[in-house]
Formats: sequence, structure tokens, C-alpha cells
Amino acid sequence: MLESILSSGQAKEISKLVAEAENIVIVAHMSPDGDAMGSSLGLAHVLTYMGKTARVVVPDEPLRQLMFLPGAKETVVYCKYHTFAEQLIADADLIFCLDFNALYRIDRMAKCVGEAKAKKILIDHHIDPENFCDITISHPEMPATCMLLFMVLCSLELYAAIDPDAATCLLAGMMTDTGNFSYNANDPRTYFVVSRLIEKGANKDDLSRRLFDTFTESSLRINGYALSKKMEVWKEYHAALISLTRDELNRFHYTRGDTEGLVNRPLSIPGIAYSAFLREEERYIKVSMRSVGDFPCDEVCARYFSGGGHKNAAGGEFRGSMQQCIDVFKSLLKDNLKLIK
Ligand code: 5GP
Ligand code: MN
Repeated sequence: MLESILSSGQAKEISKLVAEAENIVIVAHMSPDGDAMGSSLGLAHVLTYMGKTARVVVPDEPLRQLMFLPGAKETVVYCKYHTFAEQLIADADLIFCLDFNALYRIDRMAKCVGEAKAKKILIDHHIDPENFCDITISHPEMPATCMLLFMVLCSLELYAAIDPDAATCLLAGMMTDTGNFSYNANDPRTYFVVSRLIEKGANKDDLSRRLFDTFTESSLRINGYALSKKMEVWKEYHAALISLTRDELNRFHYTRGDTEGLVNRPLSIPGIAYSAFLREEERYIKVSMRSVGDFPCDEVCARYFSGGGHKNAAGGEFRGSMQQCIDVFKSLLKDNLKLIK
């Protein structure tokens, strides 16, 4: 059913690198999301099954909602244990870079990963990858790195090494990057992969509940407040915006992950083509953008918010005050109309 995603040359080269490696490090992007964690942990389980030592190292802490994933608690968080993390990266004899396309996406880990002596293999689905790895497997048409990784594993004849823990992690990443199969989810191969992962022991219903239907009280309240008091809708521009300042976040005892998914909510209003969520961090405003249809969130985030991502889901940062960021967003409304087909 699935064609090989690797050429036979690539498959041979990767198999050889894995066979020769003892200590393997897997790195993923900052603010690791479901696809970053799912792919990294999924690959770590496969490599461990093969008898390798595999460690996942990420720049900062993954979302709380992901900590139930098998192996998540063994993840090495660079901002907490940077000496240990740097040692692991320096000593590695092979490094996998998963779910990111440029070194700056791993933040303060960029230097040590860039300078590491190990061969590096990139497996990712973001457009225009930088050339920082020895082997680059880039497939922007894939809905999730987890799905791409599944296909890579099949091409490497490692299907048998996917155990229930690996299957769980890979399915989690496919679910989170597609909003539980509600966008980027029209490729029939997606459901073939899902069926295989369920056969391998992943529990789709349990993952749905843990990933999409589990909220803390503070998270429910902050989302309610944001939708009722802080959502602006411009029907004539097919746009919506939600913003939360530090003060508001503190008032609701915000912890990271509480506003996950909030940016998608205005898209449920018929006629709204794109939506942005602005969250005030200590040193910048974090911008998240989502769209339906052709509106290119990645281009807008790259041009105005020093970011990027995918057409329908992107993000970036704004250096300035919340009001300035809101003003920038509002000043784009008219021009953005041209981007909605
Ligand atoms: P989120 O809005 O969930 O933070 O991010 C959505 C997607 O946008 C991520 O999967 C990632 O691909 C991309 N993204 C988010 N923030 C940034 C950023 O600061 N820079 C770049 N290049 N991409 C980002
Ligand atoms: Mn991804």
C-alpha cells in the first residue's frame, strides 16, 4: 500500500549509519509539540528495541499534556540540564533532527548540535530546510513528521521494531499535527498508517481523550474568558484575533499549555479564513496563526513576525508591546484580503 519514501541509496546510507552507531541523540524543536515529541520518542523506542542507546534532547520543556507519552519523562531538557545535554550531543555518534528545518528552531542548542562531530539526519515536513545535516529527508506534503518517520522506518525495513510504545507516540504526533484528523488529513495513506499503528498497539480513543479532551480548571476558565472578552472578529476581512496579556494570564493562574488550541476556535465561525492568537511572554509577544483554505499563515508569520511554519498553522514572535502587535495585525487586514481566494 505504501510506496518507499527513500531511494535505495538513501535507505542503505541511513541503515549503515544506524548500524554503526551506539549512542544516538534525537533532537526536536523548542516548545516541543505533539509531533516533535511523538516523532522523537517514537524513534527512541524503535532504536532502543534495536539495542541502541537513544536519548531525546529538547531545548525546553514539552507541553504538560504530552508528559503521559511513553518515555516523555526521560527526555533531557536542555534549559534545565545544559551541561548534561551538551555532553550527550558532543558524545553522540549519530544525531537525528526531527520536525524542524533550521538550526535556530532549536534555540540555544543550535551551536552544540551544529558543531557536533556526529553525522546528522534530518527528517521533517517543513518547507525549505536549511542544509545543516548530512542526510536531509524533507517532505512538506506530509501532514506530520510522525507519518513521514513511519514511512522512513518501513523503507528501512524496521516495521517489526515498532512496539506499542513507539506506535502510541507516532499516532499522537499524527493526531496533534492534524487537529485530530480535521486538517491536512485528506491523504488516504494517513489512514493506512493509522490502522497499522492501532494494530501495533496504539489506542486512538485513549489518545483522543488525553490530547484533546483533558483540561485543567484554569485552562477552561482562561479559554472561556478569552472567547467571551478578548476575541475580535472582522467578518468583512474574514479574520479574528485573540490576545492575552501577562496580567490576564496571571489572573487566571496560567501555566504553559493552558491556551493550546485556542487559536483554532474562531475558525469554527463560518466565513472566518484565518485567526491569530497573541500571548504576552516575558520578552516578546508569541504569535500563533491558523487558517482554513489557501490563506498562507507561514508567509504572513515570516514577513511580519520573524517566524514560519505551514500554510494553515504557523507562528512567530513580535518584539514590542501587545498594543503594537495588535496594531500590526489590524494594519494587515485589508492587504490580507488578497491572500484569501
Ligand atoms: P504554534 O502556533 O502551535 O506555536 O505553532 C504552529 C506551527 O508554526 C509550529 O508547528 C511550527 O511549525 C510553526 N512555528 C511556531 N512558532 C514559530 C516560530 O517562531 N518560527 C518558525 N519558523 N515557525 C514557528
Ligand atoms: Mn510537525
